[in-house]
This record gives sequence, structure tokens and C-alpha cells, in this order.
Amino acid sequence: MSKPDIPIPGSPVMPTMFDESKEIQFSCHKGIGCWNACCANIDISLTPYDIIRLKKRLGISSTEFLREYTVPYEMEKDGIAGVKFRPVENGTACRFMRPEGCAVYEDRPTACRYYPVALLSMRRQDEYTDTQSYALVKEEHCKGHDEPRRLTIAEYRQEQGVEEYDELARGWRQLVLKKKSAGPAIGAPSLKSRQLFFMACYDIDTFRDFVESEAFNKLFKLDPEMRRMLMEDDVELMQFSFRFLKQVLFGEKSLELDEEAAQERLKKWQARQAEIEEEARKQREEYERRMLEEGIDEDASGLAYSPDEGGSCGKD
Ligand code: SF4
Ligand code: SF4
Repeated sequence: MSKPDIPIPGSPVMPTMFDESKEIQFSCHKGIGCWNACCANIDISLTPYDIIRLKKRLGISSTEFLREYTVPYEMEKDGIAGVKFRPVENGTACRFMRPEGCAVYEDRPTACRYYPVALLSMRRQDEYTDTQSYALVKEEHCKGHDEPRRLTIAEYRQEQGVEEYDELARGWRQLVLKKKSAGPAIGAPSLKSRQLFFMACYDIDTFRDFVESEAFNKLFKLDPEMRRMLMEDDVELMQFSFRFLKQVLFGEKSLELDEEAAQERLKKWQARQAEIEEEARKQREEYERRMLEEGIDEDASGLAYSPDEGGSCGKD
């Protein structure tokens, strides 16, 4: 098993991992002395489904939501794109915090629902799917832990409505875990694949335009009924986006390709690669010619390069 992200020294996350049967003591309610303290200093990552719920709630597009209410971040070094809530201008509080509580309560994100429970997704090195366990977050300001109510984590999850959120985030979590388990041997993803991941996971309305585009439909064969559903239903489209990413980023075929278009695309890619290689060869010859003309010993210049060594030019 990979290690969970905790414990971190000084972290309020209790280092013990639990399963759903663990009983916790906790209650949060209006009138408690720490009301809103947790929403006054936020660090909340959003799932694709969180974004769909919130953009619908606010009546705006995913593109507008991302621009107005979020900041991008890298989940792991080497670039798994993530999205966090943007706090209030010049502050740390959530923009939906009101004196009476959360202004988007029915559509609040997964992380807000779980608190003070932390969800830990882990995977075996050789597996794609995750196993879930939980930890408890005990922060000094949170008086909910002193309240007398006791319930299991399973009951708490049900009360907070996280089951639906977890179910609909599963495909995304698998992608993230797959990306993490790919490790450094695969190397950092290209800018293009990071952009694709960001759009397909978080900007569902732009992804819809992409799926509607001529180029997409030339390459992927979509059943008309399925296309209609994807155009009309954000959640269906989101789940389709996870399948799409598994195919284009990890080669796991689940979408039918138009073979002719795929071959055409492959040929274009090969032609482009040949052009790049030809260009590199010309540059190399030009460089060597100039070195000879100027009488510079290549090794002495400190710029020695052998194509056999590979990898030093930065091109794939
Ligand atoms: S979305 Fe609601 S619950 Fe979550 S941090 Fe903001 S105000 Fe608090
Ligand atoms: S009890 Fe904890 S979760 Fe509830 S308002 Fe207070 S700090 Fe927030």
C-alpha cells in the first residue's frame, strides 16, 4: 500500500486510520461557540462533481465558476492539476460564509461535508482502484468534538450526504491515483495533457464544446442517443470525461474510434515527428559546420553531445 498523506508533524489530523465502523464523538450546530470558525480559514480542494453542483447552484458556467471562485494548484509535483476554492479578497474566509452559516449548504463541496473526518484514498502499486479509510481531524478551534453526540463514520457519511459525492468522484480519483502510481518513470505530463486533464475534469462546459466539435466527432464514434445524453446532462458528461481521459492518457480503450480517422491522425503525427527529427538533424549539421569553420574542439567547448546518450535535447 502507498502511504497516506498523513501524519504530518504538527498536523491536526489524528495519525490513526479507521474504517467506517469507527464511532466518533461530534456535533456541529448553530449556537455552538465556534460557529463558522472552520469556514474562516479555508484550504478546500474541489472535485469535478463539486464544481458541477456549485456552478449549477450559482447559475453560471463552469468556465465562469473556475475564473471567479477557484485557484488552480498542482496536486503532486510534476503536475496533476487540481482546483481549490479562492477565499475572499485579501482574506482567508470562504466566499460563501454568512453569519447564519453556509450560503450553498445543500451544494457544499465534499471536503466541507466530510469535516472533521478526512477521507484517505490509497492504492496498491499494482492496482488501479483505491481503498478508502478515514482519519479524524481535531483542530483546537473546533468545539464539535466536545459535544456529547456519538455516531459511526458510516452514519456521519450518510448524514452529510457524501456517498453520492464519493460515488461520482470515483472515476476522477482513479485517474489521479493512476497518475500518481505512474511515478517518475513516466515523466512529467506534457502541457497539452495537463490542459486536457484540467478541461475534461473541471471545465465541463468547455469539455462539452470539445465533444461537440467536428474534430472530436471525426475521431470518436458516438452513438446518437449517447451524444444527446452527454449534451444534456453534466453528470453523464463528467463520467464520460473520465473514460475519455483514461483512453487518451493511459491507452485504456473504452471509446470506439473511427479507424480511418485514427490512422489519418497517426500519419499526421508521424509526419510531424519526421519533420521535427529532420529539423534537429539540420540544426546539428549546421552547428557542426560552424564548429569546424571556427576551429572549436567540441569536447573542449563543454557542449559535447552524442545522440546516443539521448534525452538531453528535451524532445520526446
Ligand atoms: S462552502 Fe460552505 S461549508 Fe464549505 S467552507 Fe464555504 S461556507 Fe463553509
Ligand atoms: S463545530 Fe467545528 S465544524 Fe462546526 S462550526 Fe465549529 S469549527 Fe466548524
